[in-house]
Amino acid sequence: SLILGLESSCDETAAALVTDDRRILAHRVAGQEAEHRPYGGVVPEIAARAHVDRLAPIVEGVLADAGVTLADVDAIAATAGPGLIGGVMVGLVTGKALAHAAGKPLIAVNHLEGHALSPRLVDPDLRFPYLLLLVSGGHCQLLLVRGVDDYRRLATTIDDAAGEAFDKTAKLLGLGYPGGPAVERLAADGDPHAVPLPRPLVGSAEPHFSFAGLKSAVARAVASGAHRPADVAASFQQAVVDCLIDRSRIALAACPEATSFVVAGGVAANGAIRAALTGLAAAFEKSFVAPPLWLCTDNGAMIAWAGVERFAAGLSDPLDTAARPRWPLDPAAETVRGAGV
Ligand code: ATP
Ligand code: MG
Ligand code: FE
Repeated sequence: SLILGLESSCDETAAALVTDDRRILAHRVAGQEAEHRPYGGVVPEIAARAHVDRLAPIVEGVLADAGVTLADVDAIAATAGPGLIGGVMVGLVTGKALAHAAGKPLIAVNHLEGHALSPRLVDPDLRFPYLLLLVSGGHCQLLLVRGVDDYRRLATTIDDAAGEAFDKTAKLLGLGYPGGPAVERLAADGDPHAVPLPRPLVGSAEPHFSFAGLKSAVARAVASGAHRPADVAASFQQAVVDCLIDRSRIALAACPEATSFVVAGGVAANGAIRAALTGLAAAFEKSFVAPPLWLCTDNGAMIAWAGVERFAAGLSDPLDTAARPRWPLDPAAETVRGAGV
């Protein structure tokens, strides 16, 4: 099958054409860094308007790149949440219009399922169930991926996401937006042990995460003026690595049935984090799978691939499907803790 995927849940406007035999016929991504940089973060209304301007030309672009028309496509997959609701609506409504016009099924994709299944697009040998560390701008979770549409959440963050911590640290260091890659670049020149920073929740029995205290400690370290910015960046990154490793170790021990240890989401683009997770997987004798960097941050190919997997499972959605600002992968886990986690 051939699936068109649309992504517009945050500040990337993206589309891709992906086949069930894992060929990416075309993919295009347009970021919005210039629009949001003056505000130091993503402004939802500006993002939604930018998606309106860009999505149609990007869809036409990928069809032209691949040399196909909508008639050649088997289904249209669009992110239906979670994310900034204005942007999600732009992509979902576009997907509905294309599906209606071409007489093709619509597949409403959970953006997190896009991240979660993206490693299977690049690794044909990756089999369910696998343990997934999902680390992105809005989420930090450990999930047992049992199959398409079948997730068990083992842990989540009780406050900030890991990507959010990177973005806030970047802001404190005056590195601007987007923050993660800038912190990683600066950290390369710093000493990861120069600045004493906390490792929230490390050593606790449940593998949950917390980054708010780390962020406050970074703010105090910056305000003290006692440290080189590169040392703050490196020490912060090391603290995040230590938290992710300690929490993932507990989850790996709890999931002997996992075939592999997998990382996905924008923060998985970080080299220090990837290296540390590789070592942890080896210690548990699990294979380690991480998507290439471009597939870690938001893109259309992961949504098209989630569409491929859902289409193969016989799943599609009605044209009145609603956009969802919040949409947990494991709804059962939502009742365990309060809203927001
Ligand atoms: P979600 O997927 O939870 O809805 P999102 O789509 O905004 O959120 P992603 O696009 O998956 O998140 O990831 C973006 C996040 O990844 C940002 O917080 C960004 O700072 C972070 N990030 C990107 N590259 C790096 C890097 N090299 N090191 C650390 N963090 C990074
Ligand atoms: Mg982005
Ligand atoms: Fe994302």
